[in-house]
Amino acid sequence: MLDKKIKNELMDIVGPENFTEAKIDMVSYAYDAMGSKGTPDCAVWVTTTEQVSKIMELAHRERIPVTPRAAGTGIAGMAVPSHGGIVLDIMRMDRILEINIEDRICVVEPGVVYADLQKELAPLGFTLPTEPGSSIVSAIGGNVATNAGGLKGAKYGSTKDYVLGLKVVLPDGRVLKTGSRTMKTSSGYNLTQLFVGSEGTLGIMTEIILKVVPLAKATKTGLGLFDALEDAGRAVIQTMSSGVIPSVMEVMGRYLIQAINENTDLNLPEVDTMLLVETDGYTQTEADAQMEKIIEIFKKNNASEVKLAETDAERTDLWAARKSTYPVSARLNNSILVEDVTVPMSRLADLFREFGKIIEKYDLKVAMCAHAGDGNFHPLITYDGRDKEMVAKVEKASDELFKMAIAMGGTLTGEHGIGIVKAKYMTLEHGETAMEMMRVIKRAFDPHNILNPGKMALDG
Ligand SMILES: Cc1cc2nc3c(=O)[nH]c(=O)nc-3n(C[C@H](O)[C@H](O)[C@H](O)COP(=O)(O)OP(=O)(O)OC[C@H]3O[C@@H](n4cnc5c(N)ncnc54)[C@H](O)[C@@H]3O)c2cc1C
Repeated sequence: MLDKKIKNELMDIVGPENFTEAKIDMVSYAYDAMGSKGTPDCAVWVTTTEQVSKIMELAHRERIPVTPRAAGTGIAGMAVPSHGGIVLDIMRMDRILEINIEDRICVVEPGVVYADLQKELAPLGFTLPTEPGSSIVSAIGGNVATNAGGLKGAKYGSTKDYVLGLKVVLPDGRVLKTGSRTMKTSSGYNLTQLFVGSEGTLGIMTEIILKVVPLAKATKTGLGLFDALEDAGRAVIQTMSSGVIPSVMEVMGRYLIQAINENTDLNLPEVDTMLLVETDGYTQTEADAQMEKIIEIFKKNNASEVKLAETDAERTDLWAARKSTYPVSARLNNSILVEDVTVPMSRLADLFREFGKIIEKYDLKVAMCAHAGDGNFHPLITYDGRDKEMVAKVEKASDELFKMAIAMGGTLTGEHGIGIVKAKYMTLEHGETAMEMMRVIKRAFDPHNILNPGKMALDG
């Protein structure tokens, strides 16, 4: 519990209207899309770097935990205030400060929603191509802090590839600037990238400089239909090593397709596995030529059919199908676990096959989904969270999946982050020495462990 004097100080900094300890707000802030593991004492809505700095000075002095929060769509509990204290909501820092096409950059506050930035960039013929599935809700600050990826990762990479510089408030309130507005720099330690994916544990970003790229002038979208997930996996591997890099390569499995059909009027073909693929380029001929090559590879790998979107409306439908994945899967049962392991491309088909055995062993219902073009696997395990036996099975399956992905040379998370959920596997992936170095870095920035404690196994 925070004492009254501290609450008054917080109200002086942000104004009483931007402070809350109302029960309904505390319950809301106890959750992200993963669930809840802790309730804050209060929350503040900040609008300036100066306010953030003053709050951190206060928290540092009084040793109060602070959890930065953007849109709260994280899937690993990163924004859940597991140690109570203050939730620092940055969603009202939502100004696009500059778009400078000559420099090919934009400068934004962290609360800008990804889709809102895209709306401003698109008429100028430019884009931030990271597009997470949560694009209409999640904020750039959250995207940078989790190193979000997305549907176009196969060709365009993830958020880390677009962050050039930052303004950051440190846990003691000092303000730090990293990077620059230039396309390249070799100057000093790369502090910018240290903050990318740091899940709000090292500092609070209040300004972000992003590189933007030209929008593709032409696209071609298609669907490959397969009778076996493993065939689809091989088709992905062969495509990605063929010299053609599609901008989108998404796997959708039967259970997911059925859920989409039951909850939308998209009427997808109910096959075992579907690959949603898109190519892009400067001309239509370029996009079409890449698609032809991919169709050839799909057919060689037993695709029963390849359908191409002939109109914009058909393309929009295919995208709508993919983007409905989480909402429709969430309706399948009262609980859902979204995994995010990523393996080297050559191991993708092995991962699909071996995970199939895990599903069978524990008799699980899994909506299969993957950003397959970059080896990022997103099985959505749906289950009855009130059934203890079932919960234990889901935990065992996910434990085996993590260990298998790491044994294949992969990683626990391609884009969702570690948060609370995967913290206990960090040493398995990184080893004792790397974990000790991460903790040394954490202590150097945050000696009293007040900033988003309890995440990424950094405590101690
Ligand atoms: C339907 C759905 C689809 C999704 N699809 C994808 C996808 O395709 N790709 C993907 O990568 N993720 C996806 N996600 C997960 C989630 O959207 C991403 O992790 C996203 O980047 C989180 O952004 P947010 O604004 O919601 O951040 P939050 O969840 O609020 O916070 C995430 C982390 O960022 C930290 N943080 C927030 N703002 C700041 C700041 N200013 N300074 C420092 N730290 C900060 C928080 O402390 C926390 O650790 C999806 C989630 C949902 C619900």
